[in-house]
Amino acid sequence: MSKYTKKILEIVQASRDHMTAEQIFGTLWQTYPSVVRATVYNNLNRLCEEGKIRKISLEGMPERYDRIQRHDHLVCRKCGRLSDLDLGDMTRQLERKAGISILSYDLKLLYLCEECRNKSEQKG
Ligand SMILES: [Zn+2]
Ligand SMILES: [Zn+2]
Repeated sequence: MSKYTKKILEIVQASRDHMTAEQIFGTLWQTYPSVVRATVYNNLNRLCEEGKIRKISLEGMPERYDRIQRHDHLVCRKCGRLSDLDLGDMTRQLERKAGISILSYDLKLLYLCEECRNKSEQKG
């Protein structure tokens, strides 16, 4: 594993901010100013393929990266704010309902965050 790969993995695993590739690039750049964007993108893709990190895709938003450790997400439908939520491991229940064994699942609960709720209340 190259020093870049290692550092990128470290950044994503330590972060709870669901960083975009751009943000990860910015953070890595502070340690390695000679790093280029393509390196960051390639490493992120590879780490995803290897299952070391995960990618979170939301419509109309840049992709974000997250640690692999089991947790779920709360997503604001309006501004895209993403927060961690732990509902426990529901693999068994889901498998029972689906009648098949599953490799993983991806749960996103949509809501309106406080800020967006306040804004829409002000408007009327
Ligand atoms: Zn919001
Ligand atoms: Zn998360």
